[in-house]
Amino acid sequence: MVAVTRTLSPVLAGERLNAVLVAAILGLGLLFMSGFSPAAALHNAAHDWRHAHNFPCH
Ligand SMILES: [Zn+2]
Repeated sequence: MVAVTRTLSPVLAGERLNAVLVAAILGLGLLFMSGFSPAAALHNAAHDWRHAHNFPCH
C-alpha cells in the first residue's frame, strides 16, 4: 500500500496563511466595529448575535 502525502508548496502555504489572516482581521474588525458602534440598532444587533452564539458578554 502506498501512502499518498500531499504537501503545499511554500508559496501556496504562504498565500493560505495570508488569506486566513485577512479574513480574521476583517471579521474581527466587523465584530468590534459593530460592537462598539454608537448606533444603537447596530450595537444591539451585534449584541444579540453574540448572545445567540454563546459568546461571553456580561
Ligand atoms: Zn450581552
